[in-house]
Amino acid sequence: MHTAIINDTTLRDGEQTAGVAFTVAEKCAIAQALSDAGVPELEVGIPTMGLAEIETINCIAALGLRSRLMVWGRLCEGDIAAAMQCDVDIIHLSIPTSDIHLQHKLQQSREWALEQVARFVSAVHAAGHEVSLGMEDASRADPAFLDQLARQAERSGARRIRFADTLGVLDPFSTYEAIRRLRGAVDMEIEIHAHNDLGLATANTLAALRAGATHANTTVNGLGERAGNAALEEVVMSLRHLHGVDTGVRSTELVAISQLVAQASGRPVAVNKSIVGEAVFTHESGIHVDGLLKNPRNYEGFDPAEVGRERRTVLGKHSGSRAVRVAYQALGLPVIDPQVQPLLERIRQHAVHTKRPPTTDELQRFFLEATAAQGHAS
Ligand code: MN
Repeated sequence: MHTAIINDTTLRDGEQTAGVAFTVAEKCAIAQALSDAGVPELEVGIPTMGLAEIETINCIAALGLRSRLMVWGRLCEGDIAAAMQCDVDIIHLSIPTSDIHLQHKLQQSREWALEQVARFVSAVHAAGHEVSLGMEDASRADPAFLDQLARQAERSGARRIRFADTLGVLDPFSTYEAIRRLRGAVDMEIEIHAHNDLGLATANTLAALRAGATHANTTVNGLGERAGNAALEEVVMSLRHLHGVDTGVRSTELVAISQLVAQASGRPVAVNKSIVGEAVFTHESGIHVDGLLKNPRNYEGFDPAEVGRERRTVLGKHSGSRAVRVAYQALGLPVIDPQVQPLLERIRQHAVHTKRPPTTDELQRFFLEATAAQGHAS
């Protein structure tokens, strides 16, 4: 794997999340932030939703961003006409590819799907547009039929196919096989669109890139329908640390973008969310804190500064004596040996009752209590 191009779809699949809707200003702010952070491609909306959506997309286009812009539509006349009203670089057109979708959603045959690709992809390409063909529910489609569709898309002038694991039913091994096969069938861009229903979206995205996919569709915070899509922050950091691939995305921007999207989407980020969660660089357990104090590399896979964060240690049920001494030293309260164990007990009690680390005031109170008890004992 040498390169991977991120196509962020926070403003399309991300906004398709049930209950999520962005204002024009929010969409522009998110697009600007993603572009400023170096995300090379943005999927920004669904023109066939109507005039308001087309105007929003054209507002984003008017920002003159460095990112290339893409819009999403179905492979049909109406959606194509709407897409053509948008000032964007790539028109993405999606068609169902599994028999279950073709038969039970559209009552159509595989031959019909091939004809649609030949007809519409050629027409949009001939009109001077870059075309990406979306293969919806590709993970449940017959692989031989996907080969046929991909070859037809290539002949018709599409520059890219998108393999959509629409229901999030693949694992990294099956993803690798599926993409490897397509890689052998066509010589065009291949994008992976993974869903996180089984918690595997990022893993599947990495597997697809390893198998020869060129592009990865992501969303900030893993927003997206149901359990969401592969998270931008996870894909960027995993590619850097596991595969040595630089996506060009500045990782120090990821937390701010995460917060912007959390706010605009009304979907708060879990404190333990990978990379951007509030608590992912916070340590409590005695063994880990002691190890970190000796050398951060003992218990950090990467430096929190890469994402503009700092490691934090807190006191709690699993703290050890070293952390207690260090915490009190920082407060200017040197703890003597016989006080350590009582203080630890008190901190543990506090943690069990309150489910949070003690505040500075509370730590000072525990110290006074311990000192008083020490006075009585001696
Ligand atoms: Mn999707």
